[in-house]
Amino acid sequence: MSVSFDILNPATEELVQTIDLAGLDQTDAAIERAAAAFESWRNVAPADRALLLRRFAAAVDADLENLARLEVLNAGHTIGNARWEAGNVRDVLNYYSGAPERHFGRQIPVPGGVNLTFHEPLGVVGVIVPWNFPMPIAAWGFAPALAAGNTVVLKPAELTPLTAIRLGELALQAGLPEGVLQIIPGKGSLVGERFVTHPLVRKVVFTGSTGVGKRIMAGCAGQIKPVTLELGGKSANIIFADADLEQAAAAAPGGVFDNSGQDCCARSRILVQKSVYEKFLGLLEPAIHAVTVGDPADEDTVMGPLISAKQLETVSSFVPAGAPVLFQGTAPQGRGFWFPPTVLAPVDFDAPAYREEIFGPVVVVVPFEDEADAVRMANDSVYGLSGSIWTQNAGKALRVARGVEAGNLSVNSHSSVRYATPFGGFKQSGLGRELGPDALDAFTETKNVFIAT
Ligand code: NAP
Ligand code: MG
Repeated sequence: MSVSFDILNPATEELVQTIDLAGLDQTDAAIERAAAAFESWRNVAPADRALLLRRFAAAVDADLENLARLEVLNAGHTIGNARWEAGNVRDVLNYYSGAPERHFGRQIPVPGGVNLTFHEPLGVVGVIVPWNFPMPIAAWGFAPALAAGNTVVLKPAELTPLTAIRLGELALQAGLPEGVLQIIPGKGSLVGERFVTHPLVRKVVFTGSTGVGKRIMAGCAGQIKPVTLELGGKSANIIFADADLEQAAAAAPGGVFDNSGQDCCARSRILVQKSVYEKFLGLLEPAIHAVTVGDPADEDTVMGPLISAKQLETVSSFVPAGAPVLFQGTAPQGRGFWFPPTVLAPVDFDAPAYREEIFGPVVVVVPFEDEADAVRMANDSVYGLSGSIWTQNAGKALRVARGVEAGNLSVNSHSSVRYATPFGGFKQSGLGRELGPDALDAFTETKNVFIAT
C-alpha cells in the first residue's frame, strides 16, 4: 500500500503537489541499488568523478531559477534566498569536484619498509534532511560523500521534497550513474529509521532537531555506525558598548529573522551591554519595522511565511497572551502560515523563549554587565552552534570568540555559512563538521598499509 503526502504552499495553503512516499520495501531496494552502484562508483577514476561533479554543478546552475521557484512554492522561502540556496548547491559541488584528485594519503617513515595511508570510502551514506534549508543541507551531505567515492541515499523532509527530487534528476542528466545518488521521499520514522538500522548503510548524516538526533545516535550505536549530526541552536548576538551600534542594530533582524527564523544559526538571543541597552533598543525598533513580510515570490519581500500550520502553532506558543512583546512588525492576514517579527523583553532566564529554540521570528533582548558576563550568558545553553560579536576592539572580539562555546562565530557580521569553511556545533548542537577542506574525512576510513622492503 502506498502512502501519499499533500504538499501545501505555506504562503497560500494551496495544494502544490501530492507525493508518493516510499515504504520499507522501496527503501531497502534503493539501499541495495546504492550498494551495488558503490562497487563501480568507488573505482571511477578521480578525474572522471571530478568531471561528473562539475557537470552536476553546471546542470544545477542551468536550472537555478527553476529550483529557486520550486523552493518558493514548497517552502515559502523568499526568491532571493532561494536563488542563493540553489547557487550554494552549485558552489558546494564545484568545491568538492576539486577533492577526488587531491584526496592524498601519506607516506610515513617507518623501519623495515614503506608505510602508506589511504582514505577509503565507506559505502552507502544515508543523508536525512530537514525542511528549513532543503537544498543546501542536502548538498553539504551528498557533495563530499560522492566526491570521496560513496554512494548516497537521501531522504528529504516530508514537507519539502520537491527540490531534492529535482536535484536527483539533474544528477542523472549530468551523467552520474544510476544508483549513485537516490532521493527517497518518505517518513522519518520509516525511511530515516531504516538508514539507521540497515547494515548496508555505513554512515548517517542527520540535520534536524536535537531530540531526533539523539535517537539516531543511539540507534547507530547498535552497529557502531558513524554519524554526523547538525542539530538545534540558541545562538547569542553579543553587542558591546563600543560597537558600531547603528550597524549592529540594522543587522540584528537579519541575524535572526532570515528564513522566518527557521534557521539553526538564528541569533535568537540578543545580549546588549547595559550602558547602551536603551540606545540599542531605540535603533532596533525601526529595523524591526523595516522587515517587510509577505509574498515570498516578490523580489522586495524580506521575510516569508513559516513552513506549516504546526510550526505556526509552535512559534505562537512562545508568545502567549500577556507575553512581554516590546516591538512587533506586521504580517499578512488570512491564509498562509504567517507570524510577524517579534521582539520580547524583558524575559526571565528560565523563560522558554530565552532557553528553547523557537525556530520562528521571535527574539529576546537581554542586558549584560561586562565581557565575562556576556561570555557566561552566551554559554548558558545546552546548544552551541553559532553566534556573533559586535565590537570595534579586535582583542576583545578574539577573546570573546575563543570564550564562546560554539562552532561558528562571526565578528561584526552574522555570516555563518561559507562552503570553504567548517560548519557544525558544540554541545547539543551536534557532532562532526560539514563543509570546508576536511569534510571528506567524515566520509572515509583511514587505512594503513605497511609493505616490508
Ligand atoms: P526533525 O523533526 O528532527 O526532522 C529532520 C529530519 O529527520 C526530517 O527529514 C524527518 O523526517 C527526519 N526524522 C524524523 N524522525 C526521524 C526518526 N525517528 N529517524 C530518522 N529520521 C527522522 O527536525 P525538523 O523539525 O524537520 O527541523 C527543525 C530542526 O532542525 C530544528 O531543531 C533545527 O535547529 C534543526 N536544524 C539544524 C541544522 C543544523 O545545521 N544544525 C540545520 C537545519 C535544521 P520527516 O520530515 O518525515 O519528519
Ligand atoms: Mg519533526
